[in-house]
Amino acid sequence: MKVLVTGGTGYIGSHTCIQLIEQGYTPVVIDNLCNSKEMVLDRIEQVTGVRPTFMQGDIRDSAFLKRVFAKHSIDSVIHFAGLKAVGESVEKPLKYYDNNVSGTLTLVSEMDLAGVKSLIFSSSATVYGDPASVPIKEDFPTSATNPYGRSKLMVEECLRDFQQANLDWSITLLRYFNPVGAHESGLLGEDPQGTPNNLLPFVAQVAVGRREKLGVFGNDYNTPDGTGVRDYIHVVDLADGHLAALDKMKHQPGTHIFNLGTGQGNSVLEMVHAFETAANRPIPYEIKPRRAGDIAECYADPTYAEAHLGWKATRDLQTMVEDTWRWQSQNPNGYQ
Ligand code: NAD
Ligand code: UDP
Repeated sequence: MKVLVTGGTGYIGSHTCIQLIEQGYTPVVIDNLCNSKEMVLDRIEQVTGVRPTFMQGDIRDSAFLKRVFAKHSIDSVIHFAGLKAVGESVEKPLKYYDNNVSGTLTLVSEMDLAGVKSLIFSSSATVYGDPASVPIKEDFPTSATNPYGRSKLMVEECLRDFQQANLDWSITLLRYFNPVGAHESGLLGEDPQGTPNNLLPFVAQVAVGRREKLGVFGNDYNTPDGTGVRDYIHVVDLADGHLAALDKMKHQPGTHIFNLGTGQGNSVLEMVHAFETAANRPIPYEIKPRRAGDIAECYADPTYAEAHLGWKATRDLQTMVEDTWRWQSQNPNGYQ
């Protein structure tokens, strides 16, 4: 079965390609390489023995997509391609709406023309805004506090409307909590460009000596140690969640929504201490003011995904930080 993976050389997409290959699927990767490197394909080949078919191009380019669908008989699409930096989205909202919203609409239009009716979309727990309580269930109210989050919400709503008008389509919206970790081989991992926005890549770069110390954004939240609590999920578990969705939802028309998280919350300081153990070195940090837009606590109720996808995260926190450290220490400068 051929699966088109948009954004397939990116962090989550590349790990999903490995799981797809290992489960006997044939991924066809498209990416414009705006936030990833072609070398990722070498690494996927090193791990699996298979080099995915790759076509470089942009999801906003309908002529390019027509070529992709004409060349390959695609059964389903897993759509990761998008921009994800919250801060940049505040400064350049149109760039985010163009890439994430218009890009998805172009992709879906071309799928429609090609007769491909199964789509899995990368959404985010950010669509829950500041939830009234935790753990978060799929039917909680949604809202957005920045253009990145709004782009995810807009896409969710566009896709829901589109599916209502095209009842034979299967559209699955996967709301990721906090993806971390790396492939156990140490060959693939997260390689942020510039200063990392996310916690674990920053911690890993401090550990490897690329940055002096971590800033902890606030220690006065209403949480056990005062620092923010999140649901960190191993990227390979997350990738497996896509395979479960592909397997279970492809022949079930409708719009399906699942949280992909572990159901466990960990604080910033717990993450720092776990990383110190994995890397066997101290991680210097200082407490800084809260980051604008951050919330105290965010973690999933993952039971709906377990019941309907037969999937649950299995890798624990220690594995997440050990795998991150293996990747970072073996590739101090990422994919160079
Ligand atoms: P990533 O930046 O590593 O991967 C995204 C890939 O898409 C990159 O390789 C990039 O080059 C490509 N891309 C971007 N715009 C494109 C376009 N117009 N045409 C073709 N390719 C394009 O990010 P990731 O962490 O792997 O995230 C994948 C998806 O998951 C994104 O949609 C992101 O918003 C979503 N998501 C990520 C997180 C997270 O913390 N990593 C959390 C929730 C949701
Ligand atoms: N965080 C931090 N320092 C950093 C980056 C993040 O203290 O350099 C905190 C942040 O305030 C939040 C948690 O780590 O409580 C996770 O942040 P991240 O940006 O990784 O994910 P998100 O905010 O999307 O949940």
